[in-house]
Amino acid sequence: MGKTALVTGGSRGIGRAIALKFAQMGYNIMINYAGNQEAALKVKAECEALGVKAEIFAANVKNSDEAQAMVKETNSIFGSVDVLVNNAGITRDGLMLRMTDEDFEDVIDVNLTGTFNCLRAASKVMFKQRSGKVINITSVSGVGGNVGQANYAASKAGVIGLTKTAARELAARGINVNAVAPGYIETDMTDVLSDEVKGKILESVPLKRLGKAEDVANLVGFLASESADYITGQVLHVDGGMII
Ligand code: NAP
Repeated sequence: MGKTALVTGGSRGIGRAIALKFAQMGYNIMINYAGNQEAALKVKAECEALGVKAEIFAANVKNSDEAQAMVKETNSIFGSVDVLVNNAGITRDGLMLRMTDEDFEDVIDVNLTGTFNCLRAASKVMFKQRSGKVINITSVSGVGGNVGQANYAASKAGVIGLTKTAARELAARGINVNAVAPGYIETDMTDVLSDEVKGKILESVPLKRLGKAEDVANLVGFLASESADYITGQVLHVDGGMII
């Protein structure tokens, strides 16, 4: 039946590139999205054109029931959940002193609680399989902090703690859990930043270019592969050297 990868937030940006990477690697793909069905269907068609099966599933990852239903559906359609990529994420940037409760909670709910919801649901399936690879997308902001991102940095730092704990709890069952910390990657999420901010970010990148979604997808593909079987509980950066 082939291996299956479930990619949250797979309809756009980094998640889309990850879905396509797994399709190239021969995985069947479940593409999760929040509301943009048109974009999700496009990614489904792009995956199918690479010769694999692909389905879409609308679920708000912050909702535990929806996350569980998504994992259940993935397992029943494809017969296994071999890889989970927790990629769905949002920003609500603003200086901490002016940040609203809502902006703080929304970001924690989607980025951190959402990752937990999907990880917990998928690890139950992977536990029975006695195998699995989980890759959580964190951020350089979660490692080094970032002005204007108290909510986002806290959520992404939380993802790192969650990754390390899950790696310890699941290792005995042959499940690897790692985190990937992208730097500045050109997607819809970063498109909203001003040219001035983008220029400043570029100055902080030793490799002197902004990242592409494919740069992240290549690392995620490696972590899911047999070549990474002895790697767990790690945070790998794909940031052009922003944090060294
Ligand atoms: P993006 O272009 O804004 O795409 C976000 C994706 O997440 C979309 O597929 C969206 O679905 C989905 N999504 C949003 N909220 C969701 C929810 N509550 N439930 C389920 N899906 C949801 O973002 P991106 O730049 O590709 O970022 C992807 C991940 O990388 C995020 O975790 C982000 O924090 C992280 N990251 C990005 C950068 C960067 O520079 N871009 C850097 C570091 C880390 P819809 O299409 O339905 O809206």
